[in-house]
Amino acid sequence: MDPARAKLLRQLPAVDEVLRHPQVQAALSGLSRPFAAEVVRQVIASARGEILAAPAEGLPAEFDVAAFLKAVAAELEAARRPSLTRVVNGTGIIIHTNLGRSPLAAAAQEAVLEAARSYSNLEYDLKRGARGSRQAHLEELLTELTKAEAALVVNNNAAAVMLALSSLAAGKEVIISRGQLVEIGGSFRMPEIMAASGAILREVGTTNKTYLKDYERAITGDTALLLKVHPSNFRIVGFTREVSLTDLVSLGRRYGLFVMEDLGSGCFVDLSRFGLEKEPTVQDAVATGCDVVTFSGDKLLGGPQAGIILGRREALERLRQNPQLRALRPDKLTLAGLEASLRLYLDESRALAELPTLAMVTRPLAEVERHARRLARLIHKTFGGRLKAQVKESVARVGGGALAQEPLPSRALALSLPPLAPHQLEARLRQASPPIITRVEHDTLLLDVRTLLPHDQPALLAGLKMVVESLDSE
Ligand SMILES: *Cc1c(COP(=O)(O)O)cnc(C)c1O
Repeated sequence: MDPARAKLLRQLPAVDEVLRHPQVQAALSGLSRPFAAEVVRQVIASARGEILAAPAEGLPAEFDVAAFLKAVAAELEAARRPSLTRVVNGTGIIIHTNLGRSPLAAAAQEAVLEAARSYSNLEYDLKRGARGSRQAHLEELLTELTKAEAALVVNNNAAAVMLALSSLAAGKEVIISRGQLVEIGGSFRMPEIMAASGAILREVGTTNKTYLKDYERAITGDTALLLKVHPSNFRIVGFTREVSLTDLVSLGRRYGLFVMEDLGSGCFVDLSRFGLEKEPTVQDAVATGCDVVTFSGDKLLGGPQAGIILGRREALERLRQNPQLRALRPDKLTLAGLEASLRLYLDESRALAELPTLAMVTRPLAEVERHARRLARLIHKTFGGRLKAQVKESVARVGGGALAQEPLPSRALALSLPPLAPHQLEARLRQASPPIITRVEHDTLLLDVRTLLPHDQPALLAGLKMVVESLDSE
């Protein structure tokens, strides 16, 4: 080994020495000594790796102790931070699966906190003083809101679909239109869910057109269920035809088959009066007499992650008897958050105002525009022109299932911080604390204002400040 490299390796400090250094001591609080020692060992190992890998002419004369200590402090700091962290959603995608979908309403946040910190009557019937059912808390509310005969809640909509298929059609055939054999978000592929449930897939029709007679011709003695799936984030346009749920329900009745619809997003409110495309609501689906309707709790409904199953009593009884339900049951925090979110729907105007997802979807453009202008002024005032923010037209999206691609006119702040290029600024904002998630479009960095929550402003300014200051100190 060349002497310069050997010298640098000898200058690498020992773990104990590093841990005793005052600059490192300050970063140790909250971490056990063995844990901190492991972090330090890793930083030393990576410094050693760099020395060994560097070309001879690129080696420094002396080991840079100051930079090394800074790296140790940064790693310790990072180790103290939780991995799951709040972010500021500037993407304009309201139901963003990667960013946790729906933020909870204040009432739901309080309910979750209360259920978390105390004992509850989760499975205790207070009237009888005996064991009760965790499903009881929501069943009455859900049937009241939707007029369904029965209701059941599981962990998520994928679990709901799986439980329903396995309870009603394991070992039997399920007929579905080829145009609805969709993949949603990469991990939910209808054919695979179907296989996992033990049901046998019978696809009918063509990609763009399916008629009632296609379903009818496919019915055999092995058929158990007719399934309709909301294509969610996928759309076939032009020369298309799908069978209505009403027609499927009457076909199912004639042949004594179960009929089920996976609505995906599932909305209780007709959003067409806010200029969105007309979509059947959950109540519409239930009103067809469909045996099972499933949808997510955290998409347009605006609650916590959950799978909601509504439908006819006999069908849901089969689901209740399935031992798989035990493995898919929701926890108390989910039930608390979901009940509080659903209660808001007892007064639709409260649901629209207080559920953040619905509030963001229905916020008038003029209000988004005012918010954008106010923020641009605030950024100008705070950073004195160092960070530029210009209000630009933008298109936000509902995201996550039904209406996913529905364009929502919006406003974004075009941010620029010379000399950073837009994608460099995007990366820095993503690594700020809290991270700010933006998008680069036509070489412009855009922060959509429609997806900012009322309490995001201080966090947004703190994140921006961190990026500006770190750039200025480089
Ligand atoms: C989103 C979606 C699912 C999956 O729901 P999760 O709650 O994410 O499990 C299933 N089906 C459809 C049609 C969807 O849109």
